[in-house]
Amino acid sequence: MPSLRAQAAAFPIVLVLIVLALADFAIWMAAPSVLPIVVWMSVVVLLLFSFLSLWYSGRLVRPIRELMPTVDTKGHLEFRSTSSAVAPPEELRALSDVIDQIAEKQGRDEQARQKLERVRSEFLANVSHELRTPIFAVQGFIETLLDGAVDDPVVNRDFLYRARLQAERLNNLLNDLIDISRIESGEMRMSFRMFDIQPFLRDFTSEMQPLAHAKNIELYFTGNVLPHHEVNVYADKERVKQVLINLVDNAIKYSENSGSIKIELMNAEPTPDELTIRVVDTGVGIAPEHLPRLFERFYRVDKGRARSSPGGTGLGLAIVKHITEAHHGKINVTSETGKGSTFQFTLRKEPF
Ligand code: ADP
Repeated sequence: MPSLRAQAAAFPIVLVLIVLALADFAIWMAAPSVLPIVVWMSVVVLLLFSFLSLWYSGRLVRPIRELMPTVDTKGHLEFRSTSSAVAPPEELRALSDVIDQIAEKQGRDEQARQKLERVRSEFLANVSHELRTPIFAVQGFIETLLDGAVDDPVVNRDFLYRARLQAERLNNLLNDLIDISRIESGEMRMSFRMFDIQPFLRDFTSEMQPLAHAKNIELYFTGNVLPHHEVNVYADKERVKQVLINLVDNAIKYSENSGSIKIELMNAEPTPDELTIRVVDTGVGIAPEHLPRLFERFYRVDKGRARSSPGGTGLGLAIVKHITEAHHGKINVTSETGKGSTFQFTLRKEPF
């Protein structure tokens, strides 16, 4: 198939050639004496017309050539819309706009893909690092026991307890990893329903009290939202409990022996369709520079301290954030080093 330009130029040239030939024939029939001059004129007209036709078809086709995609060094298509000094016709401008949009989308998709790839490999590196620590610890304890410590009554039980603690950590880590991947892939089904949050929070506080009392910490619930009425929220009970367990568990973990933890329920100002739940502790607090990254996976303020704590996986707050967002809620934290921290999240009063 000849090129578009050849086709665009050839058709009018052939047409003009036929018309001129017919005209010359007619003139030859009518006045044969003027034929040579007419033929010369016809040749000049045909040449002029061919030249014009070729020039115009080139002009018409140039913007199409400029729309051709190029392939960059990584094999990705790159489009550049027409940059010709000649304004392209309307149809080509529309086509150019569409191609521009495709190119932009392709660029965005590519960026998102690269980001996902980066996040994925960072996540894998973090996971293997986190898994390795307790596995090495368990291996270390077992080897020390096998090397003779098993017969030493002073240390043998201690090593076994420590190994068990690390095995617990592994288990917690795996559970959190499963949760986070289920939430992020959208596999975690939420079972939203309306329920009265006040008795729920009261029961939850009673359940957690033994854990707090073990560290001599006072744990209590207080609410300023209509004390003798139902205060309904639209949420998944189990997941809200998971959020609260993570927050209260952290509040206990990051408090010295003694102090207090308050679970507070209040109307979310200025959004009347939401309620706010706060977990306020008088623990070690968090320095301001850590606050913006606190909800990131595996982010820890005091790495040594958090790792040595039995349940710490570095995923708790990331899970809390995901669950809150799945409830169309917001979570934030305020804190002061040495004074304590307040984590607060919102829940909706009505179905969303
Ligand atoms: P971890 O399993 O390490 O506790 P989290 O995601 O639950 O992981 O918390 C991330 C980090 O935030 C913790 O390592 C800790 O440094 C800090 N943190 C969380 N809650 C509190 C709190 N109530 N008081 C002080 N620091 C906290």
